[in-house]
Formats: sequence, C-alpha cells, structure tokens
Amino acid sequence: MGRVFVAGSINMDVVATAERHPRIGETVAGDSVLYFPGGKGANQAVASAKQGVPTTLVGRLGTDAFGRELRSFLAAQGVELAFVKDTTGTHSGTAIITIANADNTIVVVPGANARVDADDVAAPTLATGDVAVSQFEIPLPTISAFFKRARAAGATTILNPAPAKKVDAALLDLVDILILNETELGFLTGTELKDSDAPARFAEAAGSLAQGKIEGKIVCVTLGKRGVLALVDGEQMLVPGRAVKAVDTTGAGDCFVGALASQLAGGKTLRDALVYANIAASICVQRMGAAPSMPTAEEVKAIVT
Ligand code: ATP
Repeated sequence: MGRVFVAGSINMDVVATAERHPRIGETVAGDSVLYFPGGKGANQAVASAKQGVPTTLVGRLGTDAFGRELRSFLAAQGVELAFVKDTTGTHSGTAIITIANADNTIVVVPGANARVDADDVAAPTLATGDVAVSQFEIPLPTISAFFKRARAAGATTILNPAPAKKVDAALLDLVDILILNETELGFLTGTELKDSDAPARFAEAAGSLAQGKIEGKIVCVTLGKRGVLALVDGEQMLVPGRAVKAVDTTGAGDCFVGALASQLAGGKTLRDALVYANIAASICVQRMGAAPSMPTAEEVKAIVT
C-alpha cells in the first residue's frame, strides 16, 4: 500500500454566535464560542488517515495554544505529524468566524501556513505508489516544489485548487488529478456555471480546461448533492450523489479529496475510488463541522456494495 502525503494548511476556526452582527465600531454581546480544527490540508489529511491509509501531513503551526491543540487533535485522528513544524515569530493559522441570523463573516489569517516552504516539502521521502495532495492555502511555489519531488519519486499528484486562484500552466503541468467544485471550475475556465446546470455543461467546461491546459490529466468536478463528474481522456464518468439528509456541508469537498487519495494509495481503480469518496463525503454532510465529521473506513465500507 502507498502512503498519502498532504502539504497544506492547518487552522483553528473560532466561531462566535450572536443575535446580530455588530455595526462598524460597535460591540455586541454574543451567545457562544466554539473551536473547530480546520484548514484544507488538515481536513484532507484527517479524511485520508481515517480510511486506515498511512497519511503524513506537511505544514506549520505556531508555538501557541492553538498549535498545541491542533497537533494533539490531528495525532488523535491518526495523522502522521513528523513534518509539521512549530514556527516562532508567527501564530497558528486562525479563522475568526461570526454567525448571526444564519449569515457569517469570516476573517482568515494564514499565520504559519504562509511559511510552509520548499525545504518543508523536501523533507519527507515519497515513493512510487504514493499520492501527493495539495490545495491553495499554502504558497504556490511550495506546491510546485512538492509536486516536482512527488513526480520525480513516481507518486501521483492531486491538486484541489481551492480557494480559487489563477493557476499557471507550469503548476498544472505537474498535476495528475485536478479536483474542483463548480465555483472553482467556473473561475478557472471563465465560464458562468450554476448549481442547476446540467452535468453536460460541467463536462464541457472541464473538457475545455483539460484540453486547453492539462491534456492527459483527470479532472473531477464535485457537484454537491448531485455527486461527482470525472473526465478521463475525454471520457465522462458520473457518480451520482447519495440521497441523504445534509445538516452541514462544510468540509464535504475536503472529505472527498482525502478519501479519494486514500483509495488511490491503496491501489483502487479511479472508478472505485470515486464511488468510495462520494460515499465518504455523503456521510460527512450528515454531521456538523469539517475535520470532526470525517467518516471512518468502517462507516464507508458498510455502504460500499
Ligand atoms: P465544501 O466547500 O462545502 O466543503 P465543495 O463545494 O468543495 O464543499 P461539494 O461539491 O459541495 O464540494 O461536495 C463534495 C462532495 O460531497 C460531492 O461530490 C458529494 O460526493 C458530497 N456531497 C456534498 N453535498 C451533498 C449532499 N447534500 N448530499 C450528498 N452528498 C453530498
């Protein structure tokens, strides 16, 4: 079995709830404060590790209380943390979220995540059969360096270009599998895409991305409750979404990416890995939170037919 290596962000999400949002310059009394481990890198690593596949996270934390808490949370989920560095002179990645009347405001401060560098991603040794995963919450040159090393070692590279940012052709060249949602696909292709669009429209956009920029690559478009559409050498594969009662879709995309990576590292075919990840993500949306809502292998396997 191969390993999964995730180079990415680790955050503490601090969520305050109140009856209403303060106006500029105003202070309002809130109702509660909740702390959720998050960051796309951490979420995806947890999703993968919980499938029983050896998973190493490469990233950075501050030497603060959040850093210690995040490290112990991730260790308890089975994520290997030898390449997560404690960093002085900055703080752990933090998102300050206020929720009032079902609307939220979010300020994310990357802190230590912005310091993840080429030396960090050069530290672990990757091998053929491993899977290297990254997203856009660490510096882009670091992701390029990571994928170059992964490619040289014979590992498969997966990029989840979120939050959406312009990707240059040189980085796309290093990607084997691109996993993105409708919004990110719309952004990268300059196409206006809506939730209600037919899968054929997404296939067309994904096809234009594949032919124009990443020929020979696999593009997976996650379609929320409608499942996932994959484009492999121009062939479409649609895995329909499962009819479940979603209570919180936060982290669904991260669950999908981590679960897919774990199955590919375990030697599964792309189709089997897509089916598995679609089930894992459908379990995730039935629970609150991101990292804490990632399912175990037993939960997913109970549904896989
Ligand atoms: P988020 O930003 O909320 O983490 P995302 O926009 O990156 O998510 P989505 O396309 O919404 O990603 O969801 C990822 C996967 O999660 C889908 O491909 C599907 O497998 C599963 N999923 C999401 N929403 C639902 C739902 N309501 N019912 C069943 N499965 C869902």
